[in-house]
Amino acid sequence: MKIGIIGTGYVGLPTGVGMAELGNEVVCIDREQSKIDALKAGKITLYEDGLEELFNKNIKAGRIKFTTSMKEGVSNADLVIIAVGTPPHPVTHEADMKYIHAAATELAEHLTNYTVIATKSTVPVGTGDVVEQLIKKKNPKAQFDVVSLPEFLREGYAVHDFFNPDRIVVGANTERAANLIADLYKPFKGKTEMLFVKRRSAETIKYASNAFLAIKIHYINEMANFCEKSGADITEVAKGMGLDSRIGNRFLNPGPGYGGSCFPKDTMAMSYMARQNGVDMTLINSAINGNNARKQQMAHRILEAVKDIKDPKIAVLGLAFKEGTDDCRESPAMDIVAELLKHKAKITAFDPKAMDVAKSILGNNIEYARDMYSVADGADVLAILTEWPEFKTIDLGKIALLMRNRNIIDCRNLLDKQTAILANFKYKGIGR
Ligand code: NAD
Repeated sequence: MKIGIIGTGYVGLPTGVGMAELGNEVVCIDREQSKIDALKAGKITLYEDGLEELFNKNIKAGRIKFTTSMKEGVSNADLVIIAVGTPPHPVTHEADMKYIHAAATELAEHLTNYTVIATKSTVPVGTGDVVEQLIKKKNPKAQFDVVSLPEFLREGYAVHDFFNPDRIVVGANTERAANLIADLYKPFKGKTEMLFVKRRSAETIKYASNAFLAIKIHYINEMANFCEKSGADITEVAKGMGLDSRIGNRFLNPGPGYGGSCFPKDTMAMSYMARQNGVDMTLINSAINGNNARKQQMAHRILEAVKDIKDPKIAVLGLAFKEGTDDCRESPAMDIVAELLKHKAKITAFDPKAMDVAKSILGNNIEYARDMYSVADGADVLAILTEWPEFKTIDLGKIALLMRNRNIIDCRNLLDKQTAILANFKYKGIGR
């Protein structure tokens, strides 16, 4: 199948590489010239486990190309996937649709044969109708269908999730378009449930899923607060809850709040959409407010640990919003660092993959360490903000020798509390 993908970011690039690996002819389009130049030169533009290898393999096989030209990617394509950003509107916090609208309008004039336009971006309910109208207006003769093909990949596991999705949701209003998508995903037949639904239902499934997961995280964080006061241990409580198959054990890790490019913006967009439809979604609103407060609480927990120290130095382990990615968008670590900076804290940070991205955001406001040990040099508190697996096995004896004062605030419950205490640390985890 000939596939054009508009938007070569965290969704578009793994999707393009994955589709090429399945044997399709893929053209990835992006309006950012520097990104396309890098990709054309064989340089991958984001970190995802296993992506670089597949990227190189498929370039070599001639199955994937990169361009800034909409014409090159769209004309003659059987399928065009829209994977551009839908960031929160700065004022209303609804999904800002300017990139979707631009992509739909720009692609329209290059449609030559019957083409399915699939929206993978997370978009408000009814967007399929709008995309359809924009294309028709620009190119009344175009033969096309618009489908919703929501993306559920997890950053950090994008390649794994591309080849092993929990489900494939297709919102198609015509049989012809549904058949083309079924054909595309033939290699997954028998392995993955394919759910064909109304286009508006598919658009809603994505928001409903993300909001549900955000609420689950918010819930376990509130339960962790309760455990801290009541003397229970949240790790034991979460384990006991998770053994109930109706609840499930995932997304029950308490932490510094949810982040990333999806949950914060999707919960706000869902809340906005609900209000527009006259529905008050109190649970989602509570998760949004609680999550914002959570990051402030974590920052103050770190400051509290060094409140009696003159000119304290804070060591931060982890800046990405989660392990396995260099993405710092809406990372709780970034918000926590920003709050610490408001209190004039002196910060040194380390992240295994996100240093460059973090530097582009935080600039010279903090110092950057070269590894997870040197970050602790002369520090008064070590704050663990991202759950990178290598932090789990950090040598606390070595860290203890480097630090000026031995305090650990473990916002991810990564370390063993007893080991930390035995190494003479004052240790505070979450909910235990
Ligand atoms: P991103 O910002 O990493 O990538 C978007 C890309 O689109 C950018 O490179 C940008 O230059 C390009 N672009 C914008 N307008 C364009 C145009 N008119 N023509 C060509 N290129 C254009 O965004 P992302 O994280 O990949 O997210 C894309 C969408 O997928 C969002 O709606 C997001 O909510 C959704 N989503 C993201 C994830 C995730 O884990 N990141 C998961 C599921 C769904």
